[in-house]
This record gives sequence, C-alpha cells and structure tokens, in this order.
Amino acid sequence: HNHIDHATPEKVQAAIAAGDTHVHLPDYETLDAYRASGGYRALEDLRTGGDWEAVQETMLEAGLRGLGGAGFPAGKKWGFVRMNEGPRYIAVNGDEGEPGTFKDRYYLERTPHLFLEGMLIAAWAVEADKAFVYMRDEYPAVLEILRREIAALEAAGIVAPGYIDLRRGAGAYICGEESAMIESIEGKRGEPRHRPPFVAKVGVFGRPTLVHNVETLYWVARICREGGEILSGVEKNGRRGLRSYSVSGRVAAPGMYLLPAGSTIRDVIEAAGGMPEGHVLKAYQPGGPSSGLLPASLDDVPLDFDMLQPHGSFIGSAAVVVLSDRDSAKAAALNMLRFFEDESCGQCTPCRVGCEKAVKLMQADRWDRGLLEELCTAMSDASICGLGQAAPNPILLTMAHFPDEV
Ligand code: SF4
Repeated sequence: HNHIDHATPEKVQAAIAAGDTHVHLPDYETLDAYRASGGYRALEDLRTGGDWEAVQETMLEAGLRGLGGAGFPAGKKWGFVRMNEGPRYIAVNGDEGEPGTFKDRYYLERTPHLFLEGMLIAAWAVEADKAFVYMRDEYPAVLEILRREIAALEAAGIVAPGYIDLRRGAGAYICGEESAMIESIEGKRGEPRHRPPFVAKVGVFGRPTLVHNVETLYWVARICREGGEILSGVEKNGRRGLRSYSVSGRVAAPGMYLLPAGSTIRDVIEAAGGMPEGHVLKAYQPGGPSSGLLPASLDDVPLDFDMLQPHGSFIGSAAVVVLSDRDSAKAAALNMLRFFEDESCGQCTPCRVGCEKAVKLMQADRWDRGLLEELCTAMSDASICGLGQAAPNPILLTMAHFPDEV
C-alpha cells in the first residue's frame, strides 16, 4: 500500500524553521543500507566475468516486458541495441506523465538503488558509454534522492563521475514518448521522430540507445538478485507475472498495488479497499487516457499486455482510474481529449487539429457520431506518434459502450 509522504504546509513551515529544506524527502533505502543487504553484488559479479547473453536469457525467461507501456520484451531490446556498433548509450524514461500513473515514483521514493543497480546492469549488458536519466521535474523528492545517491555511487567508486547524467523534464507529456525524450535530452524541442530508424540504432546524439522505463530496470535488478521466478512463478487467469497498478478514482484506498498480471478490474478494486460506500462500478480507464474507458461489464478481463487489444484498448502503464455510477463517461472522455489537445506537440496536423476539432465536437449535447468516426480514422491513420494515434480511443470506446450518454 502506498504511503507517499505528502508535505503539508504545516510540515514545510516547521521543517524550514528547523533549518531543513528537504522536508519532502521520504524515508528511502540509502546506498549503505542497500549494500548491507547484498545490493550491487549482482552488478559486481557481472562486471567481473558475467555473460551478457546469459542475463538476457534470464530476462526473457522471466518474461520481463517494457513497463513504460509498450510491453516489448526487455531482453530482446538489449539484443537490438548490441547489434549496432558503439559507442552506445542507455536512456531512462522517468517522465511518468501519464495521468493516473505513479508507480515509478513509488519505487524511486523507496528503493532508488534497485532502479540504479538495474540501470547499471542493463548498461553493462549493452556496453553503454553513458547513462542519461530523464526525470520528471514534478517529482522534486525523486530528483533530490537521485542526486544524493548518484553522488554516493560515484564516491563509492561504483560508477565513474559523470557517467550518469541526470536530466530534468519540463512538464511536457510528449517527452515521455521515447524519441521526443531523446530530442529533449539533446537540448531540442521535444517532438517525436519518424521511425525508422529506431532508437536502438539511432538514439541519443545519433548513437544506438537502449531506452527503458524506470520500473523495467527496477525488475532487472530484482531478477538478478532473486531469480526470474519472482515474475514467471506467479500465475493467475492464465497470465504470468506481476503488474504495478496505480489505482485512483472511486476506490477507498487509492495507491500503488503490486498484483498478479492476470488481475481483473474487480481484483484491483478489491486490493484498493473496494469502492466507496454507495458507489457502483460503471467504467474504468485501464492504462492512461490513451486506453479510453471500458464498461463495468468487461470486469473479467485480465489487465495485462495483449489482453485488452480485442476490446480496442490496452494496459499501457497500468494507470487504473475507477469511475462509478455518479460519474459521466462522456465528461471523462472529453477531459481526456482536452488533455491530448493540451499535450499534442503540434508537429503533425491530424493530431494538432484533430484533437482540437474532437474537443469541439464532444462539447455538443449529442455527438455527431459519423463525423467523429471519420475524424478518429484520420487521426489514428495519419498521426506521427502514439499520442495522436491513440487519442481517438476514449471517443470510440465511449460511443461503443455508453451510447445513451452521447
Ligand atoms: Fe506531435 Fe501529436 Fe504528431 Fe505525436 S501525433 S508528433 S504528439 S502532433
């Protein structure tokens, strides 16, 4: 259960008076504590004679997939990056801007070294010359923890000074898209690139780059320390592994819940303390606004990779938002499109103009279904990146499952 230590104005005032300017720092596992429990031994063993292909195999057997939302097998990605000649880089996506997602923050505010060791293991596996960590600036505690702990790693001789380059994001959702993040790391405006070439070949400053989400690397370290069975040994509803669900909305105890990957929305709600008194499940967002809204009738689908595609949705970063009978699906869908309208980078017309038009059409009492469907097709077919391609999902799913409202 998630207990993020929110800094209240009173706490801040009291701490400033006491001369402490880092009041927002939660209790986390420092380098000393992490090493005392065996931390960084896996990395040291690998650096002194480990076989990267054996580690890759372990990741594949564990079933570790990219947890930023795309779900690409982590081990395979390592192979694609290594295929290309060095120098190579690793770039970590810590932008976590998906509304409703806070799992990376959860792990970083508690056990930052599991992430850091996982990153250094992945960097070792692809022989990366440098590591860029792109961190959301809205997470000041995380940034401060990382600054301190990276300095501690350098002082302990575990990484060379300057090897890890910590970069601050500036609040743009699109910089969570890997190629836009890379543009931003390079000091440019965060606009997604056309692919191919893929970033495994042409990434940061034109070099082959391994891009991983924070949580993926957290699991890399845990798998190296505890074995791949911690994921592959968990089975539920025919699915293997674990998912970190960020749960918010109409639940009694919003928070981060680590559950079997085969969990349904009913399981997730139960873990989060059930629905508040008097509320009945109406709909849910399974994985960020791009995944749209699914109806309560789809309450037996495992919330895992590949399981929601037949329903026009996906699990993404597992940002689950629960809506009850007191909520409007139409209003929620409009809110999602307003978000995309704000966050579209503006590079391509179908997305820039499409989101704006969609918002206008969705403000009508009755939606013009024909026109919206045409617009959705143009957006998903012709947008450069996932933002514009998936932005129609909330519209299409709301029309399909809540026709009376629209
Ligand atoms: Fe930018 Fe949207 Fe085009 Fe993506 S789809 S490149 S966010 S304008």
